Amino acid sequence: MQNNKIMRFNFSERKVAMKTVKPARKTENIIYAIRNIVTYAKGLEKEGLNVTYLNIGDPNVYDFDTPDHMKQAVNEAMKAGQNGYASSYGTDAARAAIAEDQHKKGTGRKNVKPEDVIVSSGASEGIEIALTALLNPEDNILLPLPGYPLYSAVIAKIGAQAKGYTLDHTNNWQPDLADIERLIDENTKAIVVINPNNPTGVFYDKETLKGIVELAKQHDLLIFSDEIYDKMIIDDVQMTYFTDLTDEVPIISFNGLSKSYIAPGWRMGWMVFHNMEEQTEYIGAIRRIAEARLCSPSPLQNAIPAALLGNQDHIPEALAKLRSRRDITFERMNAIDRVTCVKPQAAFYAMPTVEGIEDDEKFVKDILKATGVLFVYGSGFGLPKNLGAFRIVFLPDDDTLMSAYDRFEKFLKTY
Ligand code: PLP
Repeated sequence: MQNNKIMRFNFSERKVAMKTVKPARKTENIIYAIRNIVTYAKGLEKEGLNVTYLNIGDPNVYDFDTPDHMKQAVNEAMKAGQNGYASSYGTDAARAAIAEDQHKKGTGRKNVKPEDVIVSSGASEGIEIALTALLNPEDNILLPLPGYPLYSAVIAKIGAQAKGYTLDHTNNWQPDLADIERLIDENTKAIVVINPNNPTGVFYDKETLKGIVELAKQHDLLIFSDEIYDKMIIDDVQMTYFTDLTDEVPIISFNGLSKSYIAPGWRMGWMVFHNMEEQTEYIGAIRRIAEARLCSPSPLQNAIPAALLGNQDHIPEALAKLRSRRDITFERMNAIDRVTCVKPQAAFYAMPTVEGIEDDEKFVKDILKATGVLFVYGSGFGLPKNLGAFRIVFLPDDDTLMSAYDRFEKFLKTY
C-alpha cells in the first residue's frame, strides 16, 4: 500500500519534461526499405486492404519448408544437452561440414580447411564482422547498385565510406567494370560482389568476374563474395566462383542456411577465407570480434552437417517451383506496356523497370493502395527514383502471382 502511494506520488509530482534520448547520428543512414515498406502496408491492412506481399525473400512464408532431417538434427542436439555456448568460430562438426561442402565448389576450394571457416548468426553477422574488422572511417568499399541494403547499413554503422558501382540494367544487370575502375582510389580496400544477385536475380558472366579479379589484383582489393544463392540457380548453367579464377586475390565468401536450406529464422550462416594464408592480422581481428560476441546459436549449428552432407532433394523440388514462377513473372512483366524485365536466372527475385516513373517509392505505394500488391521500390536498393525499378519476390504460387500481375497490369494502363 505504502509503496503504491510512493510510486503514484513520484509520477504525478514530476514537473520537468524527460530529456529526449538522441540516437547516434550514424543511424540516420540505416534504411532497410524491404522491411520499412511493410509498416506502410500494415497500416493500410488495418484499414481493410487485402495485401499480397511480394516484398520479402523469406521462402517459409510460402509453400517451402525446412527439411525434416534438419529439424531433427536440431532437436537431437538440444536433447543431447548441446545447449551451452559453442566455440566462437563454430562447432567442429559444422566447420568440417562447411569445408567439405566447399570442396564441391571447384578446384580453387579443394584446400579449404575447417579452420578457414567461421560460423555466424546468419550470413548477415559474418558480413558485419568482416566489414567491422576491415574498415577505418577514412576507408571505402565498393558496393553494388542496386544492392542488398545490409551492406550500406553496416557501413553507416561502422562510419566508413561506401561507393556504389553500377549494375547495368541495359546489360543484363552485369557489373559495369569501367565504373568500378573509376571509383577505386587509394582508400578503397574491398569490393562486395553478390552473385547470384539480390535484387536482380541474375548471375554474372565469367568475363565480368575475370575483369573484377584483374581490378582487385591491380589495386590490392579484397573480394567479399556473397554466395548465399549459389545453390538456387534455376536454369541449367554453371556458376563461376572467384576461386575458379584466381589464387592470388584474398576472398571471403559468405553463405548460410537461410535460402537454399529454407531456414532463415535459424540464423545460421558462415564465412570462409580463401587465398588468405598471409592475412593473419586481418583474420586475427575477425576472430577477436567473433570471440567478443561469444558464439552463434549452439544447437542450431547441428543443422549444418545435416543440411550440407544430408539429403538434398528439397533443392531440385524448390527450383522446379521457382522455374515456373520465374517464367510467369518474366513473361507477364515483359508483356505489359512500358515494362522491361531482365530474365532472372537464380534466386527468387526479379527487378523490372517501368518507363515514365518519376518517383519509384510513390509508384510502389500507389500500386499497393490501388491493387493490394506490395513490391519494393528500386531506390530502396540505391537506384535513382526515376529509373522506375521495383523488386518482385516470386516465391508465391502460380495463381497468387497471376492474380497479382493481372491487377498490376490493369493498374498500369491508367497510371
Ligand atoms: N546476402 C544477401 C544477398 C541476401 O539476400 C541475404 C538475405 O536476404 C543475406 C545476405 C542475409 O542472409 P542471412 O539470413 O544468412 O543473414
